[in-house]
Amino acid sequence: MTEVYKFGGASVKDADGIKNLVKIVSSIPKDKLLIVISAMGKTTNSLEAVLNAYYDKGTDTQELLNVVKMYHATLIKELFADETHPVYDDIANTFVEIDWILEEEPYDSYEYLYDQIVSVGELVSSKIISHYLNHCGVINQWVDARSYIMTDNTYTRGKVDWDKTSKKISEQLAQVLDSKYIVTQGFIGGTSENFTTTLGREGSDYSAAIFATCLKAESVTVWKDVPGVLNADPKLFSNTKKYDVLSYREAIEMTYYGATVIHPKTIKPLQNNNIPLFVKPFHSPEESGTCIMDTDIVATEPAVIIKNRQILISMTTKDLSFITESHISMIYKNLADSAVKMNMVQVGATSLSGCIDHDERKFPGLISLLEQNFMVKYNDGLLLITMRHFQRDLLAELTKGQTIMLEQNSRNTAQVVLKQKE
Ligand code: ASP
Ligand code: MG
Repeated sequence: MTEVYKFGGASVKDADGIKNLVKIVSSIPKDKLLIVISAMGKTTNSLEAVLNAYYDKGTDTQELLNVVKMYHATLIKELFADETHPVYDDIANTFVEIDWILEEEPYDSYEYLYDQIVSVGELVSSKIISHYLNHCGVINQWVDARSYIMTDNTYTRGKVDWDKTSKKISEQLAQVLDSKYIVTQGFIGGTSENFTTTLGREGSDYSAAIFATCLKAESVTVWKDVPGVLNADPKLFSNTKKYDVLSYREAIEMTYYGATVIHPKTIKPLQNNNIPLFVKPFHSPEESGTCIMDTDIVATEPAVIIKNRQILISMTTKDLSFITESHISMIYKNLADSAVKMNMVQVGATSLSGCIDHDERKFPGLISLLEQNFMVKYNDGLLLITMRHFQRDLLAELTKGQTIMLEQNSRNTAQVVLKQKE
């Protein structure tokens, strides 16, 4: 019986977190266990900053990288008293990969460089944890996910080649699991030419689902710093409720609208293979958390999902003629070519309006494409509130006294775009 555990960045952000991981892994012995690890704490953001500085030829690139190195060095010191332990060299050598890139001028594409640099966060975190588990007597093998999660070369959002991936994992990793646990990375994959790819921000959950699917695992458990899946972000709302059970369908809907508790692509492969997904609290492993599974139980609790830094963009036909299917397909082609997703859409007589995430690197390109055929207007700094199983009074309360820019309700789901409060 194989199980997959995934530990996110917040769970392994410091030495205490890593010790807690060891406690969880060793106190619930498993027949076969594969552990997926994210980058520690905010490392992914910090490495993005290194990349941006390098790419934009800033002067503080090295300094930014040193902060990341120091953070990991301090952590290792707390875990391994013996400074001759191989982890010290292993981590130093892994960071050298970034040093080598930074020595050259940034002539490769931003996306390619992103994946080569940012992936190091997962490589170092999984190495530290693998060493530490072995040090504590939890015998495991470190596995390089880039040799198993095979993707195309769409850098920053690699598309998984399921046939190749499934063959590699089932033929090679299942055997390893017969004798020891496996520790590997979330978020990263590899191309057939051995370049590193990433699967999109917060993609480690998806990695866990891929490994679980290919190993025909019994379940996946994602360990988080929340009690389970809640009906709203506890950082924004005080009286949140936890779901004990959610159907795959409901979970997919929630992630589609921006619930960040699970990566959107995670659920589908698990649903196809009927593998339950547990979301459990890292600090209280004995609690039941939330189980996402095949069930007829319908969630009726209103769920609030808030996305900030939204841009409301509207495209109007240049001659004010009615907007037609061919206009709409042109707009969607521009969106697809710019890799921008609309979070909400409304079509009027002469214009189409929608909400997109604020992304400085994609936005100017998108605007210039759209402006070839449309008059384009936009408003930045907005908030998109989505409420599943909405209740009108609750929605009214949330939007009270604020300027509503766009609103749309279906039977189950209400969406409102607001001016963000100062
Ligand atoms: N470390 C990556 C990120 O922060 C992937 C993940 O944590 O799931 O986006
Ligand atoms: Mg994370």
